[in-house]
Amino acid sequence: MVSEEHPRYASLVLRNKLVDGYERGIASAHGLIAHGRGEAFDYLLGEQTSESARNATKVACAHLLTANHPVLSVNGNTATLVPGEIAELHAITGIPVEINLFHPSAQRIERIADHLHAYGVVNVLTGFDFIKLAHIASDRANVDKNGTFKADVVFVPLEDGDRAQALAKLGKTVLTVDLNPLSRTAVASTVTIVDEVTRAFKNLVSFAQHFKSESHEYELDLLKARFDNIENLKASYALMQKRLRSLAR
Ligand code: ATP
Ligand code: MG
Repeated sequence: MVSEEHPRYASLVLRNKLVDGYERGIASAHGLIAHGRGEAFDYLLGEQTSESARNATKVACAHLLTANHPVLSVNGNTATLVPGEIAELHAITGIPVEINLFHPSAQRIERIADHLHAYGVVNVLTGFDFIKLAHIASDRANVDKNGTFKADVVFVPLEDGDRAQALAKLGKTVLTVDLNPLSRTAVASTVTIVDEVTRAFKNLVSFAQHFKSESHEYELDLLKARFDNIENLKASYALMQKRLRSLAR
């Protein structure tokens, strides 16, 4: 039991949640390690949502709400950490949820599908009906025919660089959540939310609730047009550097 007074309380709660997801066969062992890389960057951000991350979240929301065929691609970590928020986003926007694993196994895909159904996600795409994407050599090139393959806007939180780059090369609008502003995923994407995935999804759900009505269409178009992903990444990186400098004093 972690004390709420502990300075790393929120972070330790997430760790426990992820270990639980691993023990239930939803997250992979590799996913636990990837989370650790994220934690290191979150430490540098002060474990809070920055202004630039909030802005990127709003812009990502604008893309999701104005897409013709959006898809949310989830892996074991995302399914473990934010199943409730995935279901809420799905309910508000109708976005299909595709399971896309870095280390795929039929058994884990089925477990994740059951887990998401239990949280109320109706339209879960398992990727069993797949097509191979160009520009990727491995099994990770397989994407669902009715999801990522036909999508114009793909939301791929915690994605690997190879796949993010391939999706961008195919001309898709790529949205991601990645605490590392230097990762290939962060740089290749159209909109990168440099924030911890649980905080990012909470904010995304509230933006989606706010912007859902049609009267915001002009504002959503403006948000998309004005956004520069590299400038936004630089702002996150600068924040980390500033915090490091202030610690060194
Ligand atoms: P890339 O392949 O894009 O160059 P990478 O190989 O360093 O990056 P991966 O292991 O492929 O990283 O993907 C995991 C990414 O997800 C990491 O950049 C990590 O910072 C980020 N990440 C892990 N956990 C979280 C989390 N809870 N919230 C946000 N980002 C996270
Ligand atoms: Mg990678």
